[in-house]
Amino acid sequence: MERYEIAIIGTGPAGLSAAITATIRNKKILLIGNALLSEKVEKAQVINNYLGLPSVTGKELQEAFLQHLKELDITITETKVNTIYALGDYFAIDCGDNNTYEATCVILATGLSVVKPFKGELENIGKGVSYCATCDAQFYKNKVAAVVGFSQEEESEAVFLSEMADKVLYFPMYKTDVSLGDNIEVIYGEKPQSIEKEEEKICLVTQQSKYPVDGIFLLRDSVAVQQLVPGLKLVDNLVEVDRQMQTNLKGLFACGDITGAPYQYIKSAGEGNVAALSAVSYLNKKK
Ligand SMILES: Cc1cc2nc3c(=O)[nH]c(=O)nc-3n(C[C@H](O)[C@H](O)[C@H](O)COP(=O)(O)OP(=O)(O)OC[C@H]3O[C@@H](n4cnc5c(N)ncnc54)[C@H](O)[C@@H]3O)c2cc1C
Repeated sequence: MERYEIAIIGTGPAGLSAAITATIRNKKILLIGNALLSEKVEKAQVINNYLGLPSVTGKELQEAFLQHLKELDITITETKVNTIYALGDYFAIDCGDNNTYEATCVILATGLSVVKPFKGELENIGKGVSYCATCDAQFYKNKVAAVVGFSQEEESEAVFLSEMADKVLYFPMYKTDVSLGDNIEVIYGEKPQSIEKEEEKICLVTQQSKYPVDGIFLLRDSVAVQQLVPGLKLVDNLVEVDRQMQTNLKGLFACGDITGAPYQYIKSAGEGNVAALSAVSYLNKKK
C-alpha cells in the first residue's frame, strides 16, 4: 500500500495551511476532508480579522483558499475519517468510504469536537459498536442491527445494511417521517442513553427501553475525538499539544480549533503552519 509522508485530516484553515506548507516543503501529502472546505468558512457573513483581507465574506475566503490549493496542485480526498491507529512507525487511517490509508505522520485539523460519546460506546468499539455500515455490513448477514442516524443522509447506510441483515432497528435523531425498507423498523422519539454488553448481544439502552441486538451503528456527521484517535491525550475534550503542535503520540500533530481557544481563522492557519513544519522536521529526523 502506498504510504504518504504526511496525512492531514480536515479542510478548514488549519488543515489547508498545513497542506500548503507541507507541499511547499516537498512532502508527499494526503489531504482528507470536504471539497467545499469548512462550513465554518463558507457560512461566515463578514470577516474582519483575517490579515490582509478586511471585510472578506466567508464565500470569498473559501474561493481564495480553493484557488491557493489549485495553484499548488493540492487535491482533496473527500471522505470521513473514522479512526486513526498509531502503529509504531506509521499510522493507519480508516475511512468511511471503506478505504484505509497509511502515513508516517498525521496532522489532525478536524475542528472543535462537539460530539459526546454515549456511556459504554468507546469501550465497545469493535465489540459491536461500529461507525460505518459500508465498511462493516458484511458482518451482519442474518443478524439484527440497530442504527442511530443523526441526519437524513444516514438513511442510505441503513438501507444498505438491511440488504445484508435480517432486521434493522432505525432510530432517527431528527424530526422527519422516515420510510425505509420492509425489514427496517423505525423507532421514533427514543434517545439512546447508553450501550451495554450482555453475553453475545450488545444492548442499546434508551430512556424507554433496552434493545439487545448483534451490532449498533452510530452514524453521526462528525466523529468524537476520543473515537478518532484511540490513546490521544485530551484535556476537557481538546487535544493537548506543545508549542510544536506535537500530541502525546509521536508523529501525530494537531492544530486549529481542536487544540482549544481562541477559535479564530488566523490562529488555526498559524497552528497549521507550525504543525506542518514540525511534521517535516520529524520526517527528516527519521531518515
Ligand atoms: C458562522 C461563523 C462565523 C465565524 N466568524 C469568524 C470570524 O469572523 N473570525 C474568526 O477568526 N473566526 C470566525 N469563526 C471561527 C472559525 O470558523 C474557526 O475558528 C475556524 O474555522 C477553525 O478552523 P479549523 O481548521 O481548526 O476547523 P474547521 O474550520 O472547523 O474545519 C474542520 C475541518 O475538518 C473536517 N473534518 C472534521 N471531522 C472530520 C473527519 N472525521 N474526517 C474528515 N474530515 C473531517 C471538516 O469537514 C472541516 O473541513 C466563525 C465561525 C462560525 C461558525
